[in-house]
Amino acid sequence: MIELPKMVVVGRGVRRYVAKYLLSLGTGKKCFVVSGCGATRGIAKEVAESLMDGGFEVSQICVSSAHVDEVDRVELEARSYAPDVILGVGGGKAIDVAKVVAYRLRRHFVSIPTAPSHDGIASPFASVKGFERPTSVRTTMPILVVADVEVISRAPRRLIVAGCGDLIGKFSAILDWRLAHRLRGEYYGEYAASLALLSAKHALRAARALSAKKIPEEAVRTLVEALISSGVAMGIAGSTRPASGSEHMFAHALDIVANYPALHGEEVGVGTIMMLYLHGSPMWRKVRKVLRRMGAPTTAKELGVRDVDIIEALVRAHTVRPERYTILGEKGLSWEAAERLARVTGVID
Ligand SMILES: [Zn+2]
Repeated sequence: MIELPKMVVVGRGVRRYVAKYLLSLGTGKKCFVVSGCGATRGIAKEVAESLMDGGFEVSQICVSSAHVDEVDRVELEARSYAPDVILGVGGGKAIDVAKVVAYRLRRHFVSIPTAPSHDGIASPFASVKGFERPTSVRTTMPILVVADVEVISRAPRRLIVAGCGDLIGKFSAILDWRLAHRLRGEYYGEYAASLALLSAKHALRAARALSAKKIPEEAVRTLVEALISSGVAMGIAGSTRPASGSEHMFAHALDIVANYPALHGEEVGVGTIMMLYLHGSPMWRKVRKVLRRMGAPTTAKELGVRDVDIIEALVRAHTVRPERYTILGEKGLSWEAAERLARVTGVID
């Protein structure tokens, strides 16, 4: 079963036309808008006002984190309001929370990203802290994605660069997927894999533009489109396989070991360097160079963790998602092998 968004709008100022898009999709007019509590609240307010101008009924709520407690709180509010549509406006947290709530309430979900920091903006998967596992959970595919380039290009550089890191992770994710196909006979979808790889290639190419003092809007637009493509690749595959392999398992393990020390895409970038090396792919050097050039972390220090945290995360990575076969195998890495891997790739000194 392939699940895709019904409408994806990318452009300048498109946040003001959400009412029009919803009307054409025939979703109903009662909207529940979930945003972050910082700068994204203002954007959510703009969206809410334009919805009300279009004759929609709107209720707004803000979340401080993507934690299961916040999900429960928002769900309670949403249930009593009984909306037709739930909209997530934010960098990541608000979108993840809104997505899970929409899924629980079986309502339409609309994704309005304010930063290009990860590929959850157009996928049916959400990452929420406090669930049984640190990996993503399957929820609902957004019926509509509204990516306003005017807003997204104003996002902090760190978030934009992190989005690039998340995309570059597809290089090792696809190698893992192919390996699982050859070794385990797991389903492998060439089309979904190609689409995910394409988005990673665009992220690599965007590196030069991202290292510029002022990131050009055109580069941000390409990045947003690549993140959406990656989400669509997951929709086509029906799983996160094309977008998430051993590099993501390392990132999730590091979140457990060091309590979410850095942005998801930053951790994935570092994981990608090491997992490409494990796969024997010469690409690891290029990925490291590109990440360095755009100012993304490539070392333990830059991630804000200790060397032993990196080693421990590598050793534990295979346990994060035991059913997902990757280059880490069933037993994972020994402490010595993990230490050597981190050292050879320059992640620790
Ligand atoms: Zn990711």
